[in-house]
This record gives sequence, structure tokens and C-alpha cells, in this order.
Amino acid sequence: MKCLNCHAPLEMAPNQLYARCPSCRSLFMNVAGDWQHYPVDQAEQESIERSLGFPDAADETAE
Ligand SMILES: [Zn+2]
Repeated sequence: MKCLNCHAPLEMAPNQLYARCPSCRSLFMNVAGDWQHYPVDQAEQESIERSLGFPDAADETAE
């Protein structure tokens, strides 16, 4: 599975129903076998990713 925007390899959520792009940070969801863009508010993206089961992005908290 590759990002529909930038074609980078996507990182799958543990439930395999969501994926995120480590490159452009787009979120995608699997709808009946089709991957569709999952638009989220940028301010809520981190908490949404966490609730979907993604590990925290390592580069977010590093100083
Ligand atoms: Zn991307």
C-alpha cells in the first residue's frame, strides 16, 4: 500500500483498517477493500492517530 498523494509506503494501523503516510502525514481508511483519504483536522491529527492505534510519531516530541 502506497500513499495516494506522494507514493511513499504507508504505515498500517494495528487493526489494518487505517494507514498513515510518514512522508506527507495523510491518513487513509480501508472502506470495503478500497483505500480512501481520511481527512482530519491538523490540530486533532495526533490524537486521532493515537486513537486509531498508531504509535506516537518519534519526531514530534524530540527536541
Ligand atoms: Zn504521502
